[in-house]
Amino acid sequence: MDGVPAEAGERFAAVPDAFQRLWTPHRLVYIEHGQQPHDDACPFCRAPELSDEESLIVARGEHAYVLLNLYPYNSGHLLVCPYRHIAQYDEATPEEVAEIGELTQTAMRVLRTAARCDGFNLGMNQGRIAGAGIAGHLHQHIVPRWALDANFFPIIAGTKAIPRLLGETRAEIASAWPSGARR
Ligand SMILES: [Zn+2]
Repeated sequence: MDGVPAEAGERFAAVPDAFQRLWTPHRLVYIEHGQQPHDDACPFCRAPELSDEESLIVARGEHAYVLLNLYPYNSGHLLVCPYRHIAQYDEATPEEVAEIGELTQTAMRVLRTAARCDGFNLGMNQGRIAGAGIAGHLHQHIVPRWALDANFFPIIAGTKAIPRLLGETRAEIASAWPSGARR
């Protein structure tokens, strides 16, 4: 079907270390499963201090920014984070709420065009109990969905590899981002 950027999994299976290299270009340190970082080691506070390439940032706004999830549920899985280290959505200022919303809308348009996805899952997990991987710093998930990506639920359990280099995906999304919306 046209527009589904399916990667040939068998191509990657023949290169055993490809998945190791997936993560190595990026210095942004995420936590091990089930651990929470200390506030002074928050990856979402650290990311904006790095280059876009190192941090996987695709767009920077005034109050919030957009980056690729290092542990994507699907290729092109983005996170929108305020720069401020706040945990809960109701702690965000009106300006932060507005810009998180605007960046989310722009991300949807970009992914629809660049990744030609058929739908999205949008959402925020608030607190550890609700499944937030990094509970201390608010982040909105934008997960592109394709009609044939039935592997989505197994992915949550950590069983699906994303056969696509994150750096390549970042560059594609960043270049598709409308220039007026980038800083
Ligand atoms: Zn933070």
